[in-house]
Amino acid sequence: MERKIIFLTKAFLPEFEEYINEIKDMWDTHWITTMGPKHNVLENELQKYMGVDNVSVFVNGHSALKLLANAMKLTGEVITTPYTFISTTHAIVQNGLTPVFCDVNKDDFNIDVDKIEALITDNTSAIIAVHVYGNPCDVEAIDKIAKKHNLKVIYDAAHAFGEKVNGKDISEYGDASIFSFHASKVYNSIEGGCAVYKDEGIKDELLKLRNFGIGNRDVEYVGINAKMNEFAAAMGICNLRHIDEIIQCRKELTECYINRLDKIEGIQVMAKLDSELVRRNYSYMPILVNEDVFGLSREELLKKMNDLGIQALSNFYPITNRFSCYKNIYGDAETPNAIWLSEHILLLPLNTELTIDEVNYICDTVINLKENS
Ligand SMILES: *Cc1c(COP(=O)(O)O)cnc(C)c1O
Repeated sequence: MERKIIFLTKAFLPEFEEYINEIKDMWDTHWITTMGPKHNVLENELQKYMGVDNVSVFVNGHSALKLLANAMKLTGEVITTPYTFISTTHAIVQNGLTPVFCDVNKDDFNIDVDKIEALITDNTSAIIAVHVYGNPCDVEAIDKIAKKHNLKVIYDAAHAFGEKVNGKDISEYGDASIFSFHASKVYNSIEGGCAVYKDEGIKDELLKLRNFGIGNRDVEYVGINAKMNEFAAAMGICNLRHIDEIIQCRKELTECYINRLDKIEGIQVMAKLDSELVRRNYSYMPILVNEDVFGLSREELLKKMNDLGIQALSNFYPITNRFSCYKNIYGDAETPNAIWLSEHILLLPLNTELTIDEVNYICDTVINLKENS
């Protein structure tokens, strides 16, 4: 018998007809890429949805981050965290900048604001912090530190699309934020991403960098090709119409997980619900596995779940500066919490195709594995 696999992520797709309707006019215009009408509609719709002035879309979130750091003229050292997707660290290094790794909090996986100031030197130009799993960073404390030391702040908000902090869109904090619209994220445009920024002054350069640096009959900057095509933009337009139902669906699944898993000793449920301060997007379902109490290590639980067709993931493991491309360049002595979290984290399946029955099955499986360990 073929066993059904429960996927960690599954891309949200609109109804087939909705997408077909959205792309139909491309067969008249043949405008399928390079800042076409869909591209421009998407930028406008995103601006409206987020309630912000400057949104520029890109072929993916990574390009948005890389080009934003370029257009904002960051120099020297950038304070960041290693408990993230490799993209964050790559974007810094690819700009010829030096990542300085700050440790994270054990309760929210985000930059520990009390450890930032000790890392600031004369060469520090910015903080690039990550809203890990959609947990908002301590944006007010970061803002204060940045103002005091004249640093720029960029948030890697790849996990945080649609979130509000203190009633404001999460992208309103810091100087700029990037979002990822990759298929695996809460909101997708197949592949895609955007930059949201306050300084209108960087717009011209940022948009040219996205298109090889080409300006008016001249090439003004050493840019790359990071333009979003019209098929991706059309998917983004369709999926934005469904963002509220996507978040609501994920919220209900998360509530079910939390109710079931909170009672299991040795499992620390790290997913959080909405609060007065934060409207969440329920992007991931992180738990921490305490081997001594649970009876199985994270690796053992992961393997047993995967063997049973439940696609869990030990993400983020290892921390970025332990991958071979950075291992001998940037040490990890300063970030014990990041290392510890990376060794205990497990992401459970969470996507809009998942059912409450499947969540119950996953939770039953975790309980059974504990009892048989
Ligand atoms: C997904 C992700 C990115 C990169 O986004 P892409 O759209 O895949 O380029 C960057 N940072 C974090 C934290 C991510 O999870």
